[in-house]
Amino acid sequence: MKATRHQYDVLVVGAGLAGLRAALEVAPVSKACVLTKVYPSRSHSGAAQGGIAAALGNASPDSLEEHIFDTVKGSDYLGDQDAIEILISEAPEIIYEYEHFGVPFDRMADGRLAQRPFGGHSRPRAVYCMDYTGHVLLHTLYEQCIKQDVKFFSEFYTMSLIIRDGVCRGVVAWDQQKGGLHVFHAKAVILGTGGYGRAYKITTNALANTGDGLALASRAGIPIEDIEFVQFHPTGLYKQGILLSEGARGEGAYLTNNLGQRFMEKYAPGKMELAPRDVISRSIQTEVDEGRGINGQDYVYLDIRHLGEQKILERIPQIKDLAQKYLGVDCVTAPVPIQPTAHYSMGGIPTNNDAEVLLDGKDKKVVGLYAAGECACVSVHGGNRLGTNSLLEATLYGRRAGRSAVKFLRDAVLAPLPEDAPDASLKRIDEIQEKIRTLKERYQKIRAIDRNSIFNLDLIEAIELGNVLGFAEMIVAGAINRKESRGAHFRKDFPKRDDVNWLKHTLVYRDGDVLRFDYKPVRITRYQPQERKY
Ligand SMILES: Cc1cc2nc3c(=O)[nH]c(=O)nc-3n(C[C@H](O)[C@H](O)[C@H](O)COP(=O)(O)OP(=O)(O)OC[C@H]3O[C@@H](n4cnc5c(N)ncnc54)[C@H](O)[C@@H]3O)c2cc1C
Repeated sequence: MKATRHQYDVLVVGAGLAGLRAALEVAPVSKACVLTKVYPSRSHSGAAQGGIAAALGNASPDSLEEHIFDTVKGSDYLGDQDAIEILISEAPEIIYEYEHFGVPFDRMADGRLAQRPFGGHSRPRAVYCMDYTGHVLLHTLYEQCIKQDVKFFSEFYTMSLIIRDGVCRGVVAWDQQKGGLHVFHAKAVILGTGGYGRAYKITTNALANTGDGLALASRAGIPIEDIEFVQFHPTGLYKQGILLSEGARGEGAYLTNNLGQRFMEKYAPGKMELAPRDVISRSIQTEVDEGRGINGQDYVYLDIRHLGEQKILERIPQIKDLAQKYLGVDCVTAPVPIQPTAHYSMGGIPTNNDAEVLLDGKDKKVVGLYAAGECACVSVHGGNRLGTNSLLEATLYGRRAGRSAVKFLRDAVLAPLPEDAPDASLKRIDEIQEKIRTLKERYQKIRAIDRNSIFNLDLIEAIELGNVLGFAEMIVAGAINRKESRGAHFRKDFPKRDDVNWLKHTLVYRDGDVLRFDYKPVRITRYQPQERKY
């Protein structure tokens, strides 16, 4: 099979907020394109409901200082404080930039942007568009990219990074619609490939969130940082995992057990239903384990009846739709069954504050390779992300990745493309085709199958499965390795945080079948670790 060749200054892989915002920064100055395995507006960013954080101080007094401290504390002191300071200080600018791009944020009666409370934030600072915030932001950025003539290769699946001698030279991708291998040669590559929630059975994540970027980086010899930190969202629709936005609790929803008690009273009396996600998810699990799940089962109730139909329809209409559609429950008259669901990956490809990917996870860069958004680990979320900080991170560090690439382009030369660039991908496709063929043959002997099934989808799913298996092993190994409890990572056998031994980031390398761990210190600027209480 011959590969089709393309040449660009900058390739962006991923069309979520991180990828699109990066592309928007690069497009006016150089030849850029975006590769995305799903159509851009289907990226998971579009599913975000609750909002995007900034300390604007519209709904109550607020300060950057407080937002920074909440984020450091929320991260259970594992977040790098210099990266957090950048995130929070530039947040207001990001919101106003979105507004100027045309995002119709909800407003207060006096015309200023409305802000609502969110878990772990001590002030109401989530700016939002009803409970469709991500959808609106994603569409707006996509429109801006179209306006800037960004070239999109939609439904192109990136299979490998071309890195030689520490220099990234492009990617190899598969055209899902027509079939066929493509080699994209470039001076710089920006990864915005999203998270890996699909490694879990119950998850809020889209089918596409198979952590491909992490698999690409890991295969190229780059370590993955803090992969054991996976956030569970407390309010997934029972059995489906579909997210019911924290916006519901921001608006005043109750969580109740089989005895009708608001059980958060016991676990976080100060914050109640607005405690951070890890605290609430564990509280739900404790209620269930101790037999206070509804009818003794593995779920509890999210109760918003007291908000009244008008407020529900005005502020959180999607929750009403989802509960009705998937469980047949009308949340205006009945409580909704919920359970914790895998939601967000705090770990990822290690980068510095300029979104440059680090070959050793510490200070050695991969020349011309950048990463931002959920696939990256800067690390601003540390052990636990606060809700609404990640749309912010994806946009802001996406923009930083774009800016870094533009700066790099000034003196970058196009490193030669190795002749064997597509070979490894071709070999994988051949192997998988062979396997699928054998499986199909076996399957046909059992009973008739749909002979018209689209072959490419089988191929992509097989590759994705390989990716997920690769880093699922890393998540488990990372969790076994970290002998403490911190943020989203909780162990019954080591229930306490251990700053003496574990106030450090994990870096995990894959050498063939063997996983190898390394560590790096947390960057602490202003806030020394304290006990995290809510
Ligand atoms: C249901 C839900 C609700 C959320 N709500 C909020 C919220 O209210 N506030 C908040 O701050 N955060 C929220 N989050 C988290 C937030 O939405 C994400 O962290 C963020 O949008 C990630 O953006 P991204 O650009 O990094 O990735 P994504 O938006 O996931 O985009 C990834 C892109 O990478 C592409 N891609 C992946 N692999 C490949 C490949 N191999 N080849 C080519 N392309 C590839 C995909 O096609 C896609 O375009 C929510 C998440 C979920 C799941």
